[in-house]
Amino acid sequence: MRSMKTKVKKIDKMQLNSEVSRSIVEEAGDILKSGGLVAFPTETVYGLGADALNKDAAHKIYAAKGRPSDNPLIVHIARIEDLKRVVRIIPKEAYIIADKYWPGPLTMIFEKAEQVPYETTGGLETVAVRMPGDEAARKIIEAGGGFIAAPSANTSGRPSPTKAKHVIEDLSGSIDMIIDGGDTAIGVESTILDMTVIPPMILRPGAVTKEMLEGLLGDIAVDRTMVSADSGTAPKAPGMKYRHYAPKAELSIVEGPTELVADAINSMASSRISQGFRVGIIGTEETKGKYRAGIVKCIGTREDEMTIAGHLYTILREFDEENVEYIYSESFSTGGIGSAVMNRLLKAAGYHVIEV
Ligand code: AMP
Ligand code: MG
Repeated sequence: MRSMKTKVKKIDKMQLNSEVSRSIVEEAGDILKSGGLVAFPTETVYGLGADALNKDAAHKIYAAKGRPSDNPLIVHIARIEDLKRVVRIIPKEAYIIADKYWPGPLTMIFEKAEQVPYETTGGLETVAVRMPGDEAARKIIEAGGGFIAAPSANTSGRPSPTKAKHVIEDLSGSIDMIIDGGDTAIGVESTILDMTVIPPMILRPGAVTKEMLEGLLGDIAVDRTMVSADSGTAPKAPGMKYRHYAPKAELSIVEGPTELVADAINSMASSRISQGFRVGIIGTEETKGKYRAGIVKCIGTREDEMTIAGHLYTILREFDEENVEYIYSESFSTGGIGSAVMNRLLKAAGYHVIEV
């Protein structure tokens, strides 16, 4: 492992039609078509791409990430017409949703078409499909043959990458190419919606929220294992059972009225510091001034929870680099994008919540 030469190329998203960008996209496409691995930015997180219809290529993704082979990959497409080539049945609701939210941060699950290999679907009869909103991503997908499996471009178990530097840390030497398109716009993975059940069910929350989907279709179900540590039931999205997004530190989420939360965090932090531990605190624009000890990081503002989603994984990675041993985080609202943030944070914390 880590013995390959990995090319890193910067792409300017404002100049996708320039000669330089076109040649980068073409080179990435050639690597993908010949069964290689290319990491590229999408609007959610960086993806690790391989030809989704080539089982050997899909297999390489698992090896590079150290990903368990029963954890299925999302097939990325660049044109809605391509959906029918990887899917057996498309319910009419899927077109209603695609019309509004594709391209975008939403993955839908369907019965798979025969040509999609089990290596891509983790052995399942269903396939997850997304058309990303990021135009550079769509150009790379198209150049690579149109069907690109692209899980998050991190080593399994680490926070998903939202910057090219995160991908370089995890995968340099293990893949053919990394395309650096700057920071990803959203910062948490796509919403996953299972279209094989009625009503459609959210298996993973993301930037396309339950409220938004209900506005289009009415009833939307939610996989209950998504929001709690329900050890008795297996989540319907296989990847959700793994302890994803894990920082090295022990992470606790502190929930309650703002003043009490800050007091509790200050007291737990100073007690750990006096025992000789390194402590990190995740606060917000509104509260960061209240913390008196430890390494305090501002995750964003509660006025705009998209800012919080955008910084979550970077902060977890920074605390890893800083060898922090205990992290205390405030809790965030569970409406809108907040439910995606809380879902990832709860998993990173192993569902450890302190109520004050
Ligand atoms: P990643 O691309 O790394 O965010 O991971 C993709 C996730 O999508 C997997 O971990 C699964 O949880 C989920 N997924 C992909 N395909 C399916 C499927 N056919 N059925 C249910 N969940 C899926
Ligand atoms: Mg992932």
